[in-house]
Amino acid sequence: MTEKADLQPVLDRAAGGGRITPEEALELYRSAPLHALGVAADAVRRRRYAGSEHIATYIIERNINYTNVCVTACKFCAFYAAPKDTSKGWSRDLDDILRRCAETVELGGTQIMFQGGHHPDYGVEYYEKHFAAIKKEFPQLVIHSLGASEVEHMARISGVRVEEAISRIHAAGLDSFAGAGAELLPERPRKAIAPLKESGERWLEIMEIAHGLGVESTSTMLMGTGETNAERIEHLRMIRDVQDRTGGFRAFIPYTYQPENNHLKGRTQTTLFEYLRMIAIARIFLDNVAHIQGSWLTTGKEVGQLSLHYGADDLGSIMLEENVVSSAGAKHRSNRLEIIDLIRKAGRVPAQRTTTYEHIVVHDDPANDPVDERVVSHFSSTAIEGGTAHPELKLLPAN
Ligand code: SF4
Repeated sequence: MTEKADLQPVLDRAAGGGRITPEEALELYRSAPLHALGVAADAVRRRRYAGSEHIATYIIERNINYTNVCVTACKFCAFYAAPKDTSKGWSRDLDDILRRCAETVELGGTQIMFQGGHHPDYGVEYYEKHFAAIKKEFPQLVIHSLGASEVEHMARISGVRVEEAISRIHAAGLDSFAGAGAELLPERPRKAIAPLKESGERWLEIMEIAHGLGVESTSTMLMGTGETNAERIEHLRMIRDVQDRTGGFRAFIPYTYQPENNHLKGRTQTTLFEYLRMIAIARIFLDNVAHIQGSWLTTGKEVGQLSLHYGADDLGSIMLEENVVSSAGAKHRSNRLEIIDLIRKAGRVPAQRTTTYEHIVVHDDPANDPVDERVVSHFSSTAIEGGTAHPELKLLPAN
């Protein structure tokens, strides 16, 4: 299939609910006109959400970074500090973490993303203790956190199998896994940017184990560190194959590499057109994954808004705190009213959602829009070479 004229039947088949092959996906990703790709992806989204296709969702959550100390030293990461680098490394204590949870609840947040480095001392026991303490004080908060990489690391530290690690932290309070650590799953680009991380096959194997134990997850892709188009499509294929067996991936979230303050300086970022093409091809190819999320954090609000016309049904989180991607240069900020406005101006009705995508509030009447201006993104501007990252969320008066 080399002629562009041959692509329309494939787009039509996908738009009509048919499955496309990895080879067809690669050809579409490389050669289909951007607009045609968007039209087909939007048709897929509308079919999937018939009856609620007018809605696009967001969630209020807080990333809680418990430590930046990490033994894995990924080359794209601007967040971590090596264990021996005591001037840059830090860890939060439990009181600090609980205070951040309390602020999240106060601002209407429903989810926390516990995210941090692979600390050489933090085994399963560390996570059991912290998740149990969070759930005891804030049973209403969903702990959507960590990923296969953290599980592999904590199991090794504690000398247990990953099955046991997952079961224990799930029993302690973990609700679902974030798609953290997927990066690029094919071997070549993964080794180029994260040589000390587990393989992509192992990442998927651990996610499959988690799904089998009743712990669902999301999935992600880091775009723009030098991977080829074929490797991007192979990443999607690997996720789709596991999803055919487990059904445990709730969403797919591609995001773009941020080039500052890390060891990959000089690599080309992906273009915004490539990003929109990925949103669209993901919606078309991942016919077994429910949700596609547009990432305004790394691509900007306008592109996030556009992604809703290329197959995305969700804009993810108004991050009450984020320090990892922002350390590498992501500079976009937003607040709840802006996200609501973005969705509305994309021609959709905004809805705040839960972790499992139930609608909490449907903003179908602007007269009833929330007025709490404190629901704002707070990001770190500090970086690995600039000292420790300890942003504080300054709560403004309630009115
Ligand atoms: S991406 Fe995660 S695992 Fe890799 S160096 Fe950064 S904190 Fe460590």
